[in-house]
Amino acid sequence: MPTKIAIIGGGIVGSTAAFYLHQQPGVEIIMFDDGTGQATKAAAGIISPWLSKRRNQQWYRLARDGAGLFHELAIDAHLTGTSFARTGTIITRDDSDDLDALEQLAYERRDSAPTMGEIYRLNEASIKALLPFVHHSAPGILITGGARIDGQLFCAQLQQAANVIPRPGRVSFNEKGDLVANGQIEKFDLVIAAVGAWLPELLNPLGLTTAVRPQKGQLLELKTPVYQTTQPQPVLMPEGERDFIPTTPGQLIVGATHENDQGFDLTPSVEVENDLLASANRVTQTLTTQDITGIRVGTRAYTQDFAPFFGTLVGHESILVASGLGSSGLTTGPLIGQLLAQMAIGQTVATERYTKATSQYIS
Ligand SMILES: Cc1cc2nc3c(=O)[nH]c(=O)nc-3n(C[C@H](O)[C@H](O)[C@H](O)COP(=O)(O)OP(=O)(O)OC[C@H]3O[C@@H](n4cnc5c(N)ncnc54)[C@H](O)[C@@H]3O)c2cc1C
Repeated sequence: MPTKIAIIGGGIVGSTAAFYLHQQPGVEIIMFDDGTGQATKAAAGIISPWLSKRRNQQWYRLARDGAGLFHELAIDAHLTGTSFARTGTIITRDDSDDLDALEQLAYERRDSAPTMGEIYRLNEASIKALLPFVHHSAPGILITGGARIDGQLFCAQLQQAANVIPRPGRVSFNEKGDLVANGQIEKFDLVIAAVGAWLPELLNPLGLTTAVRPQKGQLLELKTPVYQTTQPQPVLMPEGERDFIPTTPGQLIVGATHENDQGFDLTPSVEVENDLLASANRVTQTLTTQDITGIRVGTRAYTQDFAPFFGTLVGHESILVASGLGSSGLTTGPLIGQLLAQMAIGQTVATERYTKATSQYIS
């Protein structure tokens, strides 16, 4: 079993891998993270994959089992505070036939996903009662097992539980596959490269081309009046609009954008800010630019088939990689991190249950 393991990247994948590896006696973990632009800390944090219409069965299994892992992980890692909350998610549809179909799908999917919890059909008045900031809403379905995580806090708590403090600065590979940090080669038995959208750059010195592209995502943080509600405030996913994520009382996140032409740019844009505010006001009708308290910007990693991949890097048995988690990476990331940790200690993992081979994306 490898005893000295490097993890490059302290996002959701790297942090979960560290947490599970820490449970192996005798394993030393060194984490590197340059802290420049991870997706995890910018993310909205919605965990609710069950009603997705995506046809990719490997992806759905990964997202479903990933969502199922959260509760176990939160208990095992003693995650506290606002890092993980089972708030429920409401998904609306304008057309009642569409809502019927969605409800039927929810019941079908729950058979193999008990963490979905209860399923309720809600009219506009019930949605307003749960979410007083809502001025207008179509009817919807409430899935009580839907959850929200604070990616940044979640990773900080996992890293603390794993007893790792990320070493700052950008690391690289030389052409032989040695890890270079601060201009020096550092020897490890195994390296886990969990670098999100930056995998092409990291693998380039090995003569490898990685089919992963960056996608910019922006979210608006807004303040709302503090409403007196006795229920936990669920996430609202209205049809055709951005998602609404109540965080603490009087705080709301709205987003996110999916911008394919911005590379790794992390500059907030005024047009996007206006667009997100307009989207928010088609549901709330009360928010102005004065209510904006912040803008989050992050870079997602996408593959050509929109599917994540993870596993051993072909030709480099002591390097494991993961990337391409796209817009549902907080949902799939913990399971990918757990499976990478199992692979790192030599366990056999049936990756084909969840992903194509890494050679489909790296050549
Ligand atoms: C705006 C937005 C909203 C989102 N909302 C949701 C959501 O609601 N639900 C959901 O499930 N998912 C969501 N996602 C997607 C999710 O956040 C990502 O898919 C997931 O966080 C990716 O995790 P990761 O660990 O693969 O990569 P990252 O979080 O990107 O972490 C990679 C880390 O590696 C570091 N790194 C890279 N190269 C190097 C190097 N050479 N040396 C050292 N460090 C390096 C980076 O700086 C970064 O910190 C959202 C994403 C965005 C941007």
